[in-house]
Amino acid sequence: MIYSTSIQNLHDSLHEWRKHQESIAFVPTMGNLHAGHIELIKIAKTKAKRVVVSIFVNPLQFGEHDDFTRYPRTLEEDSRILEALDADLLFHPTAQDIYPEKAQTIVSVHNLANQYCGVARPGHFDGVATIVCKLFNLITPTIAVFGCKDFQQLTLIKIMVRDLHLPIEILGVKTIRDTHGLALSSRNSYLTEDETKQARLLYQTLTHAKEKIITHHTDFTKIEQTAIDNLKAAGFTPEYFKICRSNDLEPAQLIDNEIVILTAARLGKTRLIDNIAFSKPV
Ligand code: AMP
Repeated sequence: MIYSTSIQNLHDSLHEWRKHQESIAFVPTMGNLHAGHIELIKIAKTKAKRVVVSIFVNPLQFGEHDDFTRYPRTLEEDSRILEALDADLLFHPTAQDIYPEKAQTIVSVHNLANQYCGVARPGHFDGVATIVCKLFNLITPTIAVFGCKDFQQLTLIKIMVRDLHLPIEILGVKTIRDTHGLALSSRNSYLTEDETKQARLLYQTLTHAKEKIITHHTDFTKIEQTAIDNLKAAGFTPEYFKICRSNDLEPAQLIDNEIVILTAARLGKTRLIDNIAFSKPV
């Protein structure tokens, strides 16, 4: 595996592959790799000749009160995992390389950037869109692989690629969960043992709401409010719980068949997000 820490080195490394027109699948991450990331990389390997993985804890997507400093950084272990998976290149740039002082450009996907997770994290999705756009330009992948775990992020990236005419296929991969349904996340390491057990309720609440919709409960506002109340009663501080259309994340109407329920909630010091996507039976 090639290990690139500078843009120049990345260009030099990609040069040979480009010369031979080899396809590249790209998996952007913030590191602290777990089975969710590993699934993305395994799928990426089936989609192109070369697989590039980036590890970059992107300062631009963290707010003042977010966990940028304490975000888990485990580069050595991550490198071992990537070697074992036979990834072709690990790109681990410095923040100075990515955001030189003279930089003035931000990529912003209105209006989605300001909804759902964007409400509690203003500027977060501008940070995400900007770093992903920069990485796409640097790596020029044929395909990029993202987790459905971050459903709003995945949707936003698809919109950005469409709007900017970027010639990149975006692939969403199903969420990998532990045996109790908790979505794997680097932030789960912040949870205490008790909180880890409590956290399972987030996916249970999503599943319960899905069952209500599938069994023809039509009052979406009531389903959302009941879920919020249940999460509060279980010790969460919910941010939102929204039943949406899965293609554009607009609030779902009764005629919509492709649904995703999105939620974010705090548990102690940890912010958890999850979602469930499904087709309504006709
Ligand atoms: P992160 O390192 O958290 O920025 O995540 C990098 C990529 O891994 C993103 O596309 C995430 O959506 C994806 N990802 C994170 N957790 C999971 C999971 N449990 N299952 C599948 N994909 C995931």
